[in-house]
Amino acid sequence: MRIIESALEMQQTALVLRAQGERIGFVPTMGNLHAGHLSLIRIARQQAGTAVVSIFVNPTQFGPNEDYAAYPRTFAADRAACERAGVDLVFHPAVTEMYPEGASVSVTENALSRTLCGASRPGHFDGVCTIVAKLFHLIQPHVAVFGEKDAQQLRIIRRMVRDLRMPVEIVAGPTVREPDGLALSSRNQYLDADQRRQAACLHLALEECRRRFAAGMRDPRELAAAMRALIARHPAARPDYIEIVDNETLAPLTGPIVRPALAALAVRVGAPRLIDNTVLTP
Ligand code: AMP
Repeated sequence: MRIIESALEMQQTALVLRAQGERIGFVPTMGNLHAGHLSLIRIARQQAGTAVVSIFVNPTQFGPNEDYAAYPRTFAADRAACERAGVDLVFHPAVTEMYPEGASVSVTENALSRTLCGASRPGHFDGVCTIVAKLFHLIQPHVAVFGEKDAQQLRIIRRMVRDLRMPVEIVAGPTVREPDGLALSSRNQYLDADQRRQAACLHLALEECRRRFAAGMRDPRELAAAMRALIARHPAARPDYIEIVDNETLAPLTGPIVRPALAALAVRVGAPRLIDNTVLTP
């Protein structure tokens, strides 16, 4: 397994691989790899002969009061996990490789990022789009794999690829969960034992929503209220948002659900802010 830290070397290597007819599959990550990331790597390996994983904690997608400095950086373990998972190449750049001194050009998304996490994390998705665009230029993937756990991110990346005519196929990987339903996340390790038990409430709320939807409930306000009531039974949980939006536009629903909707929530359990979602298809 090769490890590259230089942006130029990464791009030259990718261009050589392409010239040799290799198909490149790419999984962007911020490291601290868990079984969710590994499931995306498996998909990339099924889709392409060469699997590239980037490990980069991207400063521009963190707000000033967020956990950029504290975000777990575990490169030695990540590298070993990539090796075991059959990754061909790990791209692990320094911040200055991705953001040269004086960098002043970025990618902005102006519609899908207005709601959900975009509303509570201003600039977050512009940071995501900017880094993913740069990574695509360096890694030149034929296919890139993103997790459904970050549903809004996935939709925004698809929109960026469409709008900027990027020659990359985007593939979605299902959310990998703990036995009690909690979505795997690098931030789960900051939960103490009691918070960890209560953190299953995100999944329970989505299950409750799915049950009511299956039983015929179509009013997004009633469905959101049912989720809110379930979360409220968990004293360590403080909701940031609990919403039902259109699955394509991510706009809040004004009337009953008549086409696929996304039920999504962000909840602080202690300090960590956790997210989860499910699609409701009538
Ligand atoms: P991150 O390192 O948190 O930026 O995530 C890198 C990629 O892994 C993103 O595409 C995430 O959506 C995906 N991911 C994170 N958690 C999970 C999970 N539990 N199951 C599947 N994919 C995930």
